[in-house]
Amino acid sequence: MCLFCKIVNKEIPANIVLENENFLAFHDINPKAPVHILAIPKLHVDSFNEVTGETMAKMTEFIQEIVKEVKIETSGYRVITNVGDNGGQEVKHLHFHILGGAKLKWGHFSDADPKDFL
Ligand code: 5GP
Ligand code: ZN
Repeated sequence: MCLFCKIVNKEIPANIVLENENFLAFHDINPKAPVHILAIPKLHVDSFNEVTGETMAKMTEFIQEIVKEVKIETSGYRVITNVGDNGGQEVKHLHFHILGGAKLKWGHFSDADPKDFL
């Protein structure tokens, strides 16, 4: 069973923000911003590559609830899902990072010069 499935099953503790029948949101153990929450489907999906549109429609509403709950709806935030090696996905259970609580920087090519890709 994967790490996030264990969190869903309460085998590993997590600091839960919001939960419903299909989704769970909890604080990231290694936050990259003052607010750093992970939103996951309770049923295991490897990554964004495999998720259905139906699940994404519900996930959208769940994320909208989370940002209201933690009061970053109007100050702003970022939603990210990492996919595969190049995306930097470490946990192979679909999750959306919700980052906020401060002005976020933008710099996804941290180890490479973007000109190298042109
Ligand atoms: P990825 O790199 O796969 O997009 O993101 C995985 C995220 O899961 C990382 O931000 C990491 O800090 C977080 N994480 C890894 N293990 C745990 C854990 O046991 N508990 C919680 N709450 N977060 C975790
Ligand atoms: Zn899983």
